[in-house]
Amino acid sequence: MPKAKETVLEIDLKALEHNYHFLKSKLKPNTKFLAVVKAFAYGSDSATVAKKLQDLDVDYFAVAYVNEGVVLRDSGITKPILVLHPQPVNFKTLIERCLEPSLYNAKILKEFIAVADAENQTNYPVHIKFNTGLNRLGFWESDTDYISEHLKATKAVKAISVFSHLAASEDLTEIDFTKTQIKNFTAIADDLSSKLGHTLWRHLCNTSGVLNYPEAHFDMVRCGIGLYGFGNAPEYNTELKPIATLKSVISQIHKIEPEESVGYNRAYTSNGYEKTATIPIGHADGISRQFGLEKGAVFIQGKSAPIIGNVCMDMIMVNVTGIDCTEGDEVIVFNANHTASEFASTANTISYEILTAISQRVKRTFLH
Ligand SMILES: *Cc1c(COP(=O)(O)O)cnc(C)c1O
Repeated sequence: MPKAKETVLEIDLKALEHNYHFLKSKLKPNTKFLAVVKAFAYGSDSATVAKKLQDLDVDYFAVAYVNEGVVLRDSGITKPILVLHPQPVNFKTLIERCLEPSLYNAKILKEFIAVADAENQTNYPVHIKFNTGLNRLGFWESDTDYISEHLKATKAVKAISVFSHLAASEDLTEIDFTKTQIKNFTAIADDLSSKLGHTLWRHLCNTSGVLNYPEAHFDMVRCGIGLYGFGNAPEYNTELKPIATLKSVISQIHKIEPEESVGYNRAYTSNGYEKTATIPIGHADGISRQFGLEKGAVFIQGKSAPIIGNVCMDMIMVNVTGIDCTEGDEVIVFNANHTASEFASTANTISYEILTAISQRVKRTFLH
């Protein structure tokens, strides 16, 4: 692996391929695979990741917002793209770029039908989202009459799938709750299909759903975090490979005296003669202030170097007392061994948040 000369997020496309095949190996051959590439493919690079997955013949993509789908279309993605949380102001663009909306309430269903009509569409593919317990987005079970009446009254759109989202698929203390979601989802999907008079494909599982609830894979699964190397459980974290390495370099070493302070607001005081390293990565790059005050640590020459004092906008200072290192040496914030999930937990957060927080200022590079 190339040594970092500046702060970079290195994306290993072989690891992505491995994770895709691992997750796919859990599915029946006819279950479709939708790759969730929202939020810059969980902070990596949506165009490169989506192209790699398209080459591997993934069936579907999903993003959260219309502008994310536009970026994929502009970079040559031709597979279907589901937009999970579209806003009506972008419906015309959505149709122009052949993106497929999730429709989750009466307002958005009516507004989308109106735009599709105005744009002279026929059978424009849409996906109907139900709330089965997450209480975030989605129609209620009691809305199936309303939905089927409105869909049958128009030729402009056609529902091709019905879906919902699990609230606690990674939490094995919530098995009963999840099983109830699965049961309710099945009933809703049966009901809507019979009212519409045609079959709809069904999808419910995110990554942890795929791993923990094989009976709920239905016609398609929607995987995000697993593709990026995290399975939300130790047994899967050993099978999946984190695709992102965040690395940097030592800009400067300081030798400090006992009782000297380091950084803004003098938040750290040395305990003796100490050595610190200044690293060109800060909260503007996605290392939030929560990692300061010796909560988070980076790795230099394989050794843990705690982040001391407050995280600055463009820099952190780390304690390298006792570590044989010099200016220009490589710094690992997280990689496949010191994982983003472990780093995240030091600041009470999760892999999803640290990965998606890595800002666009950090250069992305690609392996394989
Ligand atoms: C983000 C998202 C996913 C992907 O979840 P992972 O836990 O990352 O696999 C799937 N479905 C919906 C509706 C989402 O919002």
